[in-house]
Amino acid sequence: MTAAALAEAVGSTVAIELVESEAIGTVGVGEATIPPIRHFNTRLGIDERTFLKETQGSYKLGIEFVGWRTGSDSYFHPFGQFGAEFDQTPFYQFWLAEHLAGRVGRIDDYSMAWGAAKKGRFCHPSRDRANMASTFDYAYHFDATLYAAFLRRYAEERGAVRTEGRIGSAQLDPETGSVASARLEDGRTIEGDLFIDCSGFGGLLIEKALHTGYEDWSHWLPCNRAVAVPCEKTGPMLPYTRSTAREAGWQWRIPLQHRTGNGYVHCDAFISEEQATETLLSNLDGEPLADVRTLRFTTGRRRKFWHRNVVAIGLSAGFMEPLESTSLHLIQYGILRLLALLPDQDMDPFLAAEYNRLTAQEYERIRDFLVLHYVATERRDTELWRYCAQTEVPDTLTYKMEQFRRHGVLSAEDGELFRNPSWLAVYLGQGVVPRKAPAVTKLRSGVPSAERIEDVRRAIEAAANDMPMHEDFVARYAAAAQR
Ligand SMILES: Cc1cc2nc3c(=O)[nH]c(=O)nc-3n(C[C@H](O)[C@H](O)[C@H](O)COP(=O)(O)OP(=O)(O)OC[C@H]3O[C@@H](n4cnc5c(N)ncnc54)[C@H](O)[C@@H]3O)c2cc1C
Repeated sequence: MTAAALAEAVGSTVAIELVESEAIGTVGVGEATIPPIRHFNTRLGIDERTFLKETQGSYKLGIEFVGWRTGSDSYFHPFGQFGAEFDQTPFYQFWLAEHLAGRVGRIDDYSMAWGAAKKGRFCHPSRDRANMASTFDYAYHFDATLYAAFLRRYAEERGAVRTEGRIGSAQLDPETGSVASARLEDGRTIEGDLFIDCSGFGGLLIEKALHTGYEDWSHWLPCNRAVAVPCEKTGPMLPYTRSTAREAGWQWRIPLQHRTGNGYVHCDAFISEEQATETLLSNLDGEPLADVRTLRFTTGRRRKFWHRNVVAIGLSAGFMEPLESTSLHLIQYGILRLLALLPDQDMDPFLAAEYNRLTAQEYERIRDFLVLHYVATERRDTELWRYCAQTEVPDTLTYKMEQFRRHGVLSAEDGELFRNPSWLAVYLGQGVVPRKAPAVTKLRSGVPSAERIEDVRRAIEAAANDMPMHEDFVARYAAAAQR
């Protein structure tokens, strides 16, 4: 992703060298995304149809969370808004007043994305803002390895030079302490002005060479392992990711055209790898298509993402579990931020300071959103969930939760990745319910009645029924080659 975006933006003036090692390979998971990925592809001029065919991709309307609140519940985090605006006042405020009075049903029923997703339907959103079918957004599921290969070709076509080989060490400039060159194990040396470390969890340059340090967030997000395996596709592709809470973590299910991706994210203090693997294998839709892989990680972030002349992007920068599919987004965010702050040869540390400030903020906001899923649960049935019940909550999250609990106020900040509708979905889904509805719903004139709110639900049902089945839509629009 980094080489492709740089090649597109500055490839005609800057020499870009991409070093990869087939012997090391990539982490090979990372198949669910969030809507901003579409802007990344658009910026690169990638046609959606070609992209889906090349990556065995499918559409994603949100995430279904199963068993996260009590063990036997489910809710949906949709992409897009809830309902429609009434006189420029957010729909949810009026919905909340009527819901607390017992006159209307769950918030999920007022989401266009869920209306379509629960019926297995998909089409592109309408451009007509008056149409209910314009009120949702979408992202993709795709095979991350195929996406990487596709982007590698893209980058090479635009002038990036790829070098196959394994970097053994980095040489520092004795005066500045910056990285002067990287040495491959076969003796070749690569010099550069700016090094972008995309080397994965190890952080070859940012950590091994520059010793930048890591902020460990495991006390907030204790999961530190995943076992992953693809399985046969056994039915029509659903247009959403499913996350099922389990004894010591949660299991993902990601439908692609040629297979289904699965993994069990867990904490090794509460379950053994063998038990986690057994749980995963006994909860697959179809036969496994490969051996189970184990991935180990420490949740957290690099103390500096950009240090001297090295910028860490991807797993080398930090990692948060894929509960809300944010890692590829953080890569995209890092690249676009770097392009906006691209240094010239004086490598002014002021630019790095701004990059680090903004990136840390983005990581911390996402962290809080993930922590919400764990701390708001009512589950106490296993050690992990009991641990979560007594986890210290970041102050920034406590503030947001209290705003919602006391007055139904949603307080996502400007520029925050997860906006108010996302917070609303997860608060309510996890059982964080306001004590009362915002005062505006009682005080202002022209408050819509429960009947008008129900009209919205009926309009969603009707619009969903007009959409084609997701499986058929993909087959007609972007069928990939059979594998
Ligand atoms: C369990 C799990 C599930 C995930 N699910 C999702 C998801 O659903 N959605 C999402 O957005 N993200 C997800 N992610 C994150 C996603 O997989 C990564 O963000 C993404 O794959 C990018 O990884 P990377 O390129 O930073 O690292 P890697 O994939 O590890 O790539 C590192 C690259 O550096 C090269 N390299 C390393 N060392 C050397 C060396 N010494 N010399 C030369 N080359 C070297 C390797 O060859 C490789 O090309 C998940 C991650 C995990 C662990």
